[in-house]
Amino acid sequence: MPITSFHPPHRTLMGPGPSDVHPRILEALGRPTIGHLDPLFVGMMDECKALLKYAFQTENALTLPVSAPGSAGMEACFVNLLERGDKAIVCVNGVFGTRMIENVVRCGAEAIRVDTDWGKPVDVAAVEAALKANPDAKVLAFVHAETSTGAVSDAEKLCQLAQQYDCLSIVDTVTSLGGVPLYVDKWGVDAVYSGTQKCLSCTPGISPVSFSDKAIAVIKSRKQPVQSWFLDMNLILGYWGEGGKRAYHHTAPINALYGLHESLVMLQEEGLEHAWARHRTMHNALAAGLNALGIEFVVDAEYRLPQLNSVWIPEGVDDAKVRAQLLEEFSLEIGAGLGDFAGKVWRIGLMGFSARAENVRLLISALAKAMQDQGYQCDVEAALAAAEALL
Ligand SMILES: *Cc1c(COP(=O)(O)O)cnc(C)c1O
Repeated sequence: MPITSFHPPHRTLMGPGPSDVHPRILEALGRPTIGHLDPLFVGMMDECKALLKYAFQTENALTLPVSAPGSAGMEACFVNLLERGDKAIVCVNGVFGTRMIENVVRCGAEAIRVDTDWGKPVDVAAVEAALKANPDAKVLAFVHAETSTGAVSDAEKLCQLAQQYDCLSIVDTVTSLGGVPLYVDKWGVDAVYSGTQKCLSCTPGISPVSFSDKAIAVIKSRKQPVQSWFLDMNLILGYWGEGGKRAYHHTAPINALYGLHESLVMLQEEGLEHAWARHRTMHNALAAGLNALGIEFVVDAEYRLPQLNSVWIPEGVDDAKVRAQLLEEFSLEIGAGLGDFAGKVWRIGLMGFSARAENVRLLISALAKAMQDQGYQCDVEAALAAAEALL
């Protein structure tokens, strides 16, 4: 039997990413492929950079999309800024912080780990103590929006501390970009990476990054070459850099970049502040509905990410069964708990195009049905009314 074309179903994506991709972005992906050194394509690359500067709120010249997923953006920041023998302070309050440690170690650098309980923002006082105890640290790295727990950390304060103690800051904004306030220049972030498949609602596979002038100076004056050829910013600059001739480095993911361009145009049309406010509104409505169903949040309201809602699975409700039923009966995806939260927590995403009223309504009614089928007692109508009052 010959294998035939793959036609995926339409799903509603309310997990930790990817999020629902807007039809405008899907349409952009199917536009004609042109050469990656075609002058028209190069013009579009420049527009992507300008739009990314807006999204990141930065004037950094070195702001561009790395041709690989968020994890590659993470690696790009670490391999370019760290050399063998360097020291980096890494904040861990969830899964993605532990990945930063892996990156530091693989650079041949030493990781000083500052742990905070899962579900809490990074402990600023503990970070300051680590900075004091390690005056030779070169980098302070942390995750702005921990997707494994749904907690947001005080990036402004942490970057301020990095500056005060003469460290470069590396900030993971994969889930925060486009979803909650992020000001790269105002906060003095030195290296930042993000992803396209979370609050930008684009397809996965691209990682926007941005480096401050201070970070560029460090990259340019390295003693050892960056151990990753593909992610060496010194080389990538020849392809994505300002003005001058574009030299071939690798073939850009041309159509994927059309998608990113379209998603950033949409962000510009909506306005960053409005996008942040929309995520907040949808979260408030979802939270009211879930609370009315008797479901509790993992993270205190003060530190809660509107785009990633971690909730405790009620007693007696089967995690895997509920998620399977949501997928089969409602074509609705939510996320499972990661690491310490596996089996205990659901992660409900309201990212980008997924952060809209019809998704909030669907999630509440579908989740209530799946739990009721297991004997859980709740009032769907009351929960929908509680959400509707805030929409
Ligand atoms: C999703 C995510 C990543 C990894 O991005 P990929 O595109 O899956 O490689 C990194 N950090 C955080 C906080 C994330 O949520």
